[in-house]
Amino acid sequence: MAAEAFDVYQLRDEHLAVREATRELCEAKVAPNAAHADETGEFPQASYDALRSADLHAPHIPEAYGGPGADAVATAIVIEEVARACAATSLIPAVHKLGTMPLLLAGSEELKARFLPPVARGEAMFSYCLSEPEAGSDAAAITTRAERDGDGWVLTGVKRWITNAGVSRFYTVFAVTEPGAGARGISAFVLDTEEDSGISFGAPERKLGIKGSPTREVYLDGVRVGPDRLIGAPGEGFRIAMRTLDHTRVTIAAQAVGIAAGALAAAADYVTQRRQFGRPVAEFQGVQFMLADMAMKLEAARQLTYAAAARSERDDPDLTFFGAAAKCFASDAAMEITTDAVQLLGGYGYTRDFPLERMMRDAKITQIYEGTNQVQRVVMARQLLRSR
Ligand SMILES: Cc1cc2nc3c(=O)[nH]c(=O)nc-3n(C[C@H](O)[C@H](O)[C@H](O)COP(=O)(O)OP(=O)(O)OC[C@H]3O[C@@H](n4cnc5c(N)ncnc54)[C@H](O)[C@@H]3O)c2cc1C
Repeated sequence: MAAEAFDVYQLRDEHLAVREATRELCEAKVAPNAAHADETGEFPQASYDALRSADLHAPHIPEAYGGPGADAVATAIVIEEVARACAATSLIPAVHKLGTMPLLLAGSEELKARFLPPVARGEAMFSYCLSEPEAGSDAAAITTRAERDGDGWVLTGVKRWITNAGVSRFYTVFAVTEPGAGARGISAFVLDTEEDSGISFGAPERKLGIKGSPTREVYLDGVRVGPDRLIGAPGEGFRIAMRTLDHTRVTIAAQAVGIAAGALAAAADYVTQRRQFGRPVAEFQGVQFMLADMAMKLEAARQLTYAAAARSERDDPDLTFFGAAAKCFASDAAMEITTDAVQLLGGYGYTRDFPLERMMRDAKITQIYEGTNQVQRVVMARQLLRSR
């Protein structure tokens, strides 16, 4: 069999180079800020600055709009490596992709040329507003309204759980343009806090983990925008929102892989140092079997994530299944691996003197956002059964 047939099983040299460069930067300039962001709940500005200095804050933005044009696999690797150092910071590149994906998938050339370059330059951040107080898993039940106003629109409603709200300048917002039409009555818009009046934010949520990543409500109080702010055609919003998530669940899988990798590395280092019964605890088979299981699950999660990322890059029809599977598997693995990592540090793992308890708390969110893992299983089962 030709050697090329095996290419699928290894990353390209440029992907390995991206990993090396991102890891080096994050170990030096992101990891040192992680505990502070967790303790204070402050946005990790120094880590954002470090990512910007290396053009890693929004790696997926195409070169045509001033970005580095990283493919979906490279973008996943960047997010993985940032999450290995600080999960909260990894939401900067991840949510940049989430917020901008609707534009990349369905936006006019004019919208893309206007809103993407400031993000690529690191001058503006981008958030994604789908969830509402009464519409989470059932996202088609949103009630935020966009009503016709001449040839433009007026948006009114409340968005909940919005990552980087208040820090971001730009917001993709999904709103009902045709009440009673269900998912087909939803449209997508882009808002700019520097130009559009009527946008305000709730108090920061007090969360279990990813404390350095702001999560706030977004209030839209009669926000007037022109017709040029519509993404795609009226009624296409829900489809755009779901296709966006197909792509970006891969980035949450990468985030989960990164958190788990950080926890495994810290636990493996610890058990070789910690001595009990006259020898390093790493010499006990009970500990080794735990490490082996953790490494096995991590690698399975990583490979599924990269397989999904390759499908995202090609925009394959089975991305819906793979995005859900990667996010679900990797986040469940991250929860198990970080919990076991805390266990391997014994009492020390349970304290803030070590980063493991933070990693365990951070891992939990990956099972919840961009669709809970129950919803991922609904998505996977639907894909599986509809071809029968
Ligand atoms: C920190 C954080 C950041 C977030 N960032 C964003 C963001 O930037 N933008 C955004 O739009 N949203 C964001 N979200 C929202 C997130 O995507 C939702 O919280 C998530 O989709 C779940 O919705 P919900 O919280 O309303 O839970 P619910 O939908 O109320 O679910 C409650 C429980 O019921 C289960 N359930 C619901 N329906 C089903 C079903 N059909 N079958 C089986 N079980 C079901 C769920 O799995 C869950 O266990 C964020 C959330 C958090 C916590």
